[in-house]
Amino acid sequence: MTLFTKKNALISASLLLLLGGCGGSSSEDTNTVSVPDSSTDSGDTDGSGDSGNACENPVSALPPIFLEFNTSPNVTATLSEDGCFVTIEANGRPNHTSSYWDAGNASGLYVEAEDPELFNQRRSPGDIEDYNNLFQLTVPIEPELAQTPSATPLGAIGIAISGAPIFNDSEGNGDVSLGVIQGFDRNGAHTGPSTYHYHLEPAAISYDDDKLVGIMSDGFFIYGRRDYETGEYPTDVDASNGHVGLTPYTGTSSEDAVYHYHISPEQYLNGENYLIFPGDFQGTPNGVN
Ligand SMILES: [Zn+2]
Ligand SMILES: [Zn+2]
Repeated sequence: MTLFTKKNALISASLLLLLGGCGGSSSEDTNTVSVPDSSTDSGDTDGSGDSGNACENPVSALPPIFLEFNTSPNVTATLSEDGCFVTIEANGRPNHTSSYWDAGNASGLYVEAEDPELFNQRRSPGDIEDYNNLFQLTVPIEPELAQTPSATPLGAIGIAISGAPIFNDSEGNGDVSLGVIQGFDRNGAHTGPSTYHYHLEPAAISYDDDKLVGIMSDGFFIYGRRDYETGEYPTDVDASNGHVGLTPYTGTSSEDAVYHYHISPEQYLNGENYLIFPGDFQGTPNGVN
């Protein structure tokens, strides 16, 4: 009886420790992020009498960059009523060709793989048509950098302008391997447990250029390998391949510079493979649900 209780106590103590270990760091992150928010709010309320504004500079119309998402029939971006948040909804299907569309080509978007024999050996099971998803991501109109970066989870970590989700550099069982890459379509993507998704530079959206690729769960946009300002691969980037600079959607003055990510220009596994997002979130992830 005593032994049983002791054991129980030990178990609950270690459970508590475990819980404290996991939850503690993330809730600390959230706290440190929200502190500067509330202090700037109270210091600069714009005097409109709307003391409940959820952000400092609400907007009255969807910023043009979000309209890029609405060019795909598979994505919708909507501004919240208070002008502080944008919700992006996507069905997970790309608006471009892929070898993962059903080969019967009812979609009109099926293309044969570059190396059909290898693809058929390595491809993931399932066609794009097999999955019905609704991915939702709500981001603040002015996302802020977090005090501490946070690791990306498995699954959707961002939404591309095509309508398909962005995944990190891992599969459920480890890093994306050469064998996995051999099963990708020409857009660095394959089908997964529940959705078609990108791991590498999606050539149909961006190929060695500065085009908008999508939005990450922390609200920051991601562009192709090249920087808009220099036309070169950016060299002033942080560990997540992000930096503050101008983009095709900002003004041209240095004050218009915003934080954004680029696809990694580093060759992955010694081939022409460029991981979309191998780093951590530098902002606060909002989650793609
Ligand atoms: Zn995958
Ligand atoms: Zn840039």
